[in-house]
Amino acid sequence: MDARPDMPRAHASTGLVLAIVLTSPALASAGSQTTPEDLTGALQQISGVRMHQMVGELSAPAFRGRQSGTDQDLQSARYVAEQFRTLSLREGGDTDLPSTTSPNRFAMTVPVPVTWISDRPRLVVSTDRDTLRAQHGTDFLSMLDSPAVKVTAPLVFVGYGISDPARGLDEYAGIDVRNRIVMFLRGKPDRYPMPVSQAEKERLARERGAVAYLTVTGPVIGDYEARRGLTGKPNGAYSRTNGDLPLPGGWISTELGEKILAAQGRSLRDSQDLLNRDLRPQSYAMTAQATLVWESTHETGILYNVLGLMPGRDGPGENTIVIGAHRDHLGSQGPLLFPGADDNASGTAVILEVARVLAGLGITPKRSLLFISFSGEEQGLIGSRLYVSRPTRPLDKTTAMINIDHAGVGNGRLTVGVTGLEKERARAAGEAARLADHLDLFGFFPGGDHVPFKEAGVPTVTVVTSGRHPDFHQPTDTTDKVQPALLESVARYVLALVWSLAYE
Ligand SMILES: [Zn+2]
Repeated sequence: MDARPDMPRAHASTGLVLAIVLTSPALASAGSQTTPEDLTGALQQISGVRMHQMVGELSAPAFRGRQSGTDQDLQSARYVAEQFRTLSLREGGDTDLPSTTSPNRFAMTVPVPVTWISDRPRLVVSTDRDTLRAQHGTDFLSMLDSPAVKVTAPLVFVGYGISDPARGLDEYAGIDVRNRIVMFLRGKPDRYPMPVSQAEKERLARERGAVAYLTVTGPVIGDYEARRGLTGKPNGAYSRTNGDLPLPGGWISTELGEKILAAQGRSLRDSQDLLNRDLRPQSYAMTAQATLVWESTHETGILYNVLGLMPGRDGPGENTIVIGAHRDHLGSQGPLLFPGADDNASGTAVILEVARVLAGLGITPKRSLLFISFSGEEQGLIGSRLYVSRPTRPLDKTTAMINIDHAGVGNGRLTVGVTGLEKERARAAGEAARLADHLDLFGFFPGGDHVPFKEAGVPTVTVVTSGRHPDFHQPTDTTDKVQPALLESVARYVLALVWSLAYE
């Protein structure tokens, strides 16, 4: 890696950059062939302890959960850009990152909505039996982009909250939800064939005249969902209604949901089982009523992707490998902070560590490496969609996109999802990293910043630590849960894969 500080800015004149790269004596001495010993030496330099320290720094209260569009998002973007700069990576973006030092094009930006839930949200449910005062954080969370609300109204259970008479499921049929608070299960019945988003359920409830809603995770959780970290706890989540002001809403725990239904002589589990079994609506008006109270403010902020480039021997316009991880998380809600240590300070630390080790080798890769720290993933892949809509390297010459998300918690194994590349290559990288016995190889892995790349025809590899992530989207996703050994495995795997794609 050429490390002279006086290199021209990457965007200033590609011709000039190319000329200097081709005549650089440092690069002329770098042989065109790498050896297995080069890779072994690189792998040995990876440090789980160093990455764990970075996870701690990015999860610290100063970054307030790294919510996209906030000042803290910008602070965390500077943190990453500073490391790229220290490693002498070139500016890979198209926009200056606001900085106290000189201007630089490490960034790519777009406006995003920002919501602040300023006080501690309250939820009280009054049933015929008793009054349930929900504990914020453990019994419920308001939706992260919920409008302010102050309402008391009767509850109506509407199953999964789906209205699709053409496919034989209308959970609103014969049910009046005007001026009511609807309660629906997350997800969809096993046998219902169409995808259903939270935003669609919310729109439906709003159109039917509901004044608010409660989402509950049903007690029946599939294997795949469990592996992705779904639990009965309330989930920190956005409504993602794309421009419409969402209906006020909250996510309640399975336990609270069962208590509310038990007071009606019903069972959440039975309702979910029946819906899953035969798609027959289980909707009914309850005698219970709920009170929801919280303040929130809505602003527009700026999202920052951070991009650092390690140019390859092939030169500008030639093949590029993108190595990405989202940096943003859920911010805070009233007094609750979502530190996002595993999600995804861990992946951020992995790309920084891989960049550090590769930059320190003094070997120019054949193909260029573009490291991208995305923001806006939690609000719906905004940062990765932004890059794909405005790529700084040609997408048709982007040989692969490697995405790292949730790299610090699990059972010691790695889940690797591959599209558009030979699985053999993904398997061989595991062998090279001495992790062959620790890989769970799959095809397309739904959800994550690789998805816009896959949709654009770029081959993708997603790396996630296997096993349960019990603190997924919880305030308890803290640094102490993140295991340095897992970070090390993921970084070794990513480095070996990058090696096979760009150095051999
Ligand atoms: Zn994530």
